[in-house]
Amino acid sequence: MKSKFYALALSLGLSSSAFAQESRLAFDNSKATPGRQCATMDVLKAQMAADPSLAKRMAAVEDQTKKFESTSTSNRSVVGAVVIPVVVHVVYNITTQNVTDAQVAAQIDVLNKDFAKTNSDVTLVPDAFKPLAANTNIQFVLAQQDPTGAPTSGIIHKQTKIASFSSNDAVKNSKKGGSDPWPASSYLNVWVCNLSGGLLGYAQFPGGRASTDGVVVLFSSLPGVASGPYSKGRTATHEVGHWLNLRHIWGDASCGTDLVTDTPTQQTSNYGCPSFPHVTCGNNGDMSMNYMDYTDDACMYMFSTGQAARMNALFGAGGSRASLLNSSGARTTRQLAVATAGGVASLAEIRLYPNPATQTLNVSVPEKQAATWSVKVYDLSGYEMKQARYDGQGRVAVASLPQGLYQVVMSDGQQTIRQRFQKE
Ligand SMILES: [Zn+2]
Repeated sequence: MKSKFYALALSLGLSSSAFAQESRLAFDNSKATPGRQCATMDVLKAQMAADPSLAKRMAAVEDQTKKFESTSTSNRSVVGAVVIPVVVHVVYNITTQNVTDAQVAAQIDVLNKDFAKTNSDVTLVPDAFKPLAANTNIQFVLAQQDPTGAPTSGIIHKQTKIASFSSNDAVKNSKKGGSDPWPASSYLNVWVCNLSGGLLGYAQFPGGRASTDGVVVLFSSLPGVASGPYSKGRTATHEVGHWLNLRHIWGDASCGTDLVTDTPTQQTSNYGCPSFPHVTCGNNGDMSMNYMDYTDDACMYMFSTGQAARMNALFGAGGSRASLLNSSGARTTRQLAVATAGGVASLAEIRLYPNPATQTLNVSVPEKQAATWSVKVYDLSGYEMKQARYDGQGRVAVASLPQGLYQVVMSDGQQTIRQRFQKE
């Protein structure tokens, strides 16, 4: 299994030289409309060359992903929405690059809709793929607490002398004219800046260094900033897909694999707005409307069920981004942002106390609503601890639980909240 992955990584690395050429071509030919350009695989290739231990760490992520995928849905430790605190670093040289807080908020809204399958253009998914279009149950909220615990808008505006950045990660380093990341274990770092050479963005896969973890997007890719084929915020959707371990849908090779079984094998990237079906590699049509292809923003509108499982694996037992579930970045005194079905974040103030607990764990849902909530306790491997009973009145009996750390999943049927507690 491991050797297969190394071989895959190698082939992905080799094939990424095509991207470098494409990038140079577009730079020399700025009048032509360059295709979507994402430097994620270039960056991976460079990182693998510089750090021989990266392939091993990524192979471990793949092993854990396969275990998660082979676990039945009901036994997975990820239940309901995963809410990821986001810090957006707007690094600008001139005023037009200094996108507004409203534009950043609109970008978060696009992410939430795309990841929840509440994007209005999901209706355009061809019938053949409709059963595969997925709500990933992953949602995003601008950070409410900074790493010191102080209140924040989750948006940093920082002027730089650098006219444009490349994929060399300078934008992530204040000594190089960028903005330093917040801890990757607690936040998704998004850098919004000017990028050279027609580059739209790039991301770092799980397993990479914490100091460069996150995604970078071109300022004009945010919704409401510019017009054109890449102006609806789908660059961030694509790059966050990479950050959550998704590969390009064509596998960065001719008829390659994206490590997901329900996406058809396709020959290469699609550009523009292809009509369906575009048949390649003996498939019944490329899934060119997938966010992980290279099509225009207006022509990509789905993640698949297999992609959703792959992303959720990162938050399962032993998952490489599971620490984000414990981040206090999205909480103000234990308020947790929860995404509603409409993709609009609302706040539910739910508190677990005392924590640690020995006999009874109290859940601070409003008294009148207590009976309508389901409250379940899971161990960190995802197994439900049925001896921890919720009484329908805001109390969970935990006396018979072994000592340790547990996850409580609370749901009123519309929103799901998870919090951890310690049994002593
Ligand atoms: Zn990409």
